[in-house]
Amino acid sequence: MLQGVSEDLVKFFGGEETNSLDPNLLGGKGAGLAAMSQLGIPVPPGFTLTTLVCNSYFENDHDFPAGLTDLVNEGLEHVQNITGTNFGNPDRPLLLSVRSGARVSMPGMMDTVLNLGLNDKTAEGLARATGNPRFAYDSYRRFVQMYGDVVMGVSRTTEIEADPFEELLEEKKRLAGIDEDTELSAQNLQELVVEFKELIEFRTGKEFPEDVHKQLWGAIGAVFESWETPRAISYRQINGYPGSWGTAVNVQAMVFGNYGQTSGTGVLFTRDPSTGVNELFGEYLINAQGEDVVAGIRTPQPLAKSAGSNGTSLEETMPEVFKELRAACDLLETSFKDMQDIEFTIQENKLWILQSRSGKRSGAAMMRIAFDLFSDGLLTKKEALLGISPDQLNEVLHPVFKKPIDKAVLTRGLAAAPGAAVGEVVFSPSEVAIRVNAGHDVILVRDETSPEDIDGMHLSKGILTARGGMTSHAAVVARGMGLPCVTGCSALDIDYEKSEFRLEIDGEQVVVAAGDTISIDGASGEVILGAASMEEATPSREYEELMEWADQERQLKIRANADTPYDAEQARSFGAEGIGLCRTEHMFFGKERIHSVRKMILAGDTLERQIALDELLPYQREDFKGILSAMSGFPVTIRLLDPPLHEFLPHHEDEMSELAQSLNISASEVERRVHSLSEVNPMLGHRGVRLAVTYPEIYSMQTRAIVEATAELISKGIDAQPEIMIPLVGIGAELEQLRALVQRKIDEVLSEYKISPDISVGTMMEVPRACIAASEIARFADFFSFGTNDLTQTTFGFSRDDAGKFLPDYIAQGILSKDPFVELDQEGVGGLIRHAVELGRTEKPNLKMGICGEHGGDPSSIAFCHGIGLDYVSASPYRVPIARLAAAQAALGSN
Ligand code: PEP
Ligand code: MG
Repeated sequence: MLQGVSEDLVKFFGGEETNSLDPNLLGGKGAGLAAMSQLGIPVPPGFTLTTLVCNSYFENDHDFPAGLTDLVNEGLEHVQNITGTNFGNPDRPLLLSVRSGARVSMPGMMDTVLNLGLNDKTAEGLARATGNPRFAYDSYRRFVQMYGDVVMGVSRTTEIEADPFEELLEEKKRLAGIDEDTELSAQNLQELVVEFKELIEFRTGKEFPEDVHKQLWGAIGAVFESWETPRAISYRQINGYPGSWGTAVNVQAMVFGNYGQTSGTGVLFTRDPSTGVNELFGEYLINAQGEDVVAGIRTPQPLAKSAGSNGTSLEETMPEVFKELRAACDLLETSFKDMQDIEFTIQENKLWILQSRSGKRSGAAMMRIAFDLFSDGLLTKKEALLGISPDQLNEVLHPVFKKPIDKAVLTRGLAAAPGAAVGEVVFSPSEVAIRVNAGHDVILVRDETSPEDIDGMHLSKGILTARGGMTSHAAVVARGMGLPCVTGCSALDIDYEKSEFRLEIDGEQVVVAAGDTISIDGASGEVILGAASMEEATPSREYEELMEWADQERQLKIRANADTPYDAEQARSFGAEGIGLCRTEHMFFGKERIHSVRKMILAGDTLERQIALDELLPYQREDFKGILSAMSGFPVTIRLLDPPLHEFLPHHEDEMSELAQSLNISASEVERRVHSLSEVNPMLGHRGVRLAVTYPEIYSMQTRAIVEATAELISKGIDAQPEIMIPLVGIGAELEQLRALVQRKIDEVLSEYKISPDISVGTMMEVPRACIAASEIARFADFFSFGTNDLTQTTFGFSRDDAGKFLPDYIAQGILSKDPFVELDQEGVGGLIRHAVELGRTEKPNLKMGICGEHGGDPSSIAFCHGIGLDYVSASPYRVPIARLAAAQAALGSN
């Protein structure tokens, strides 16, 4: 290595060297290549420009670090020595692939250049050396096409424009009277190279470089640049990957799958990424190169022999290679202790593995694979639990279609990513955002998808493609996003111009237009006209088992935020151990009660208000009986009224006059009173505990309803365990006053019923003052529940309702790395919570503490809550299993 230049900028693989295996430095692909060389798996030699180079490149205004040229030249020598070839020399030309490789797989989001090192001279030399001019010129035209697109920027200009290179290719086939790319002659391909170069010069004003070193640096720069393309940035934002990771670039000797009938290329997963079943799952193409398989242009063949493979499977056409491939897969799985996503190439019957990395998988597959790897002794329980992504559990819990399907099944494609999706057909990714913003659910329907489509895919409920296999771009990306996907639905004839697809059913043509509703079942591949009925999913055995392990490991209790008996029951079935937040205002909107609520709010005096509250009392008592009995045996934290009263008032004339009649006042008086309640800044206005300071009778009524409900349930043998919570407290004296009021009411009602259950009274911690003065507050509270939605709002001074207008800019400009309303801001908001916990526990060692903002269902926030020793987190019902797992991971991670 060169003096004074960091060894960590460039690392070699494919030879004798023992290398670092750190994916943070080498990227996932680079680390996989290094590990495979060490395992003795056949890997074409090469070198990795590490993520340090990428970060330095962007820090230094798109300039490479000093000494890199020499390191790359050393890398070229390493490859030349092993392969016996020579870069740029027509006699034995070395050809290279230049590929991106971030820390985690970002399928298709960044760029790749293959066959680099070809020019007019080396192409001729390659034709001579191999005696195969067709192969040489096919490689050359692929290279010029890819380089023209990736490095020189010739690409489609609109979503419906065809790829301009593909257009020239199609035209050439048409003139030659042939259908398949593989039928193009060497002469045809040589002509195409010339036409492609002309196209590049015409579109970019620049000549295609003949100098191979210029080609290499152009490609390296382009791959680094692709880290900052809008699609890569979107993908990172969607998945929460920071830009500071950077990508590595792998430069590797080419091996050729387009060498003829004894060559080919394929991709595979070592287990089924949709279901997790332990069998090789992949496809290959004879006489093809790299991207052909994923691009979905030719339909690939299966790997393993099956009833339908008709002699075309790899197992049948090249049995020896298949055996070797299977053995390599087994070795890779056992070494990496995970399901692998593998790319391979066969050149003249010799197998090469180009990539092996952890494969993206559906939620169901994730559970099954983790469980099976544990059963096979490859993973411990702890490793199995730590390896599953809590967010992906969502997919396992979401509804599925009722079988048999109750609508017309149009056709069936490949079941590429499981799940049920219903939505309106949209053909263009840019149209997706427009429809979704207008409040519609959509299904994106394309011939095939490309990395540019990422934003549209993300917003869709599901993806349907006419072409492409199980490892096509659409399938891989949808699986990673947890979206249902059906690919290779060849019966669909998609007409982008007319915005419709057509298909024939029993000799009749069916036309489905943009805006029509369809359903797709990513587990069966069915495409259905209309909205098919859904039902709850039945969790798998593996899911149940893994969740049980999680429960044994976690220290945090998991509660749910629920306001209805239905939600409470659902949360309970997902494993909730109580309710951490029951928002009573949601009950006020019920049809029969809103009128009494309005009467209560607009009452002219205390007596009128009391009359309205007396009307509400029986409703509230029934509400509380419902929710307390649904959670029998577990605590239910009931929050007294919180929102500004204005939110409940009528805005339409007819509602106002109805209210005027029942209050026996004029419509204009109603209007006046409604107006007098409006506030400039209601979220910082007359809400929460402040309402009860002004109108204590509201909290008195609610407390009475809670205690009466409890007493009635207890008398029936139901173990009702209410906890009463006072919101938005910031001053000790506020809580002192309201707690006394609530306590008086509790004692009064209990003495009427002559029972004495323990009903605790606590507060929400939602404003910075409460956290800073937590000792003072703790004196009057039995528990603290951190309301991190409001606490985030009040700490940042960001309105939670309006932050959507500017937060994306904060994130795009790197001022904040995450939306603090989604992932707890551990430094600021978390700092306040930590302080409050310390003060609270000092004041009252047994003070119970939990969190009930949206962050209670977010894994990284849950880890924080575990770290500071909270007793519980409370999440929305569907996030309860996610919280159970995240809490276990936090406990295991901190061991
Ligand atoms: C909170 O503020 O975090 C909270 C849970 O209450 P709400 O969202 O109802 O304001
Ligand atoms: Mg709140």
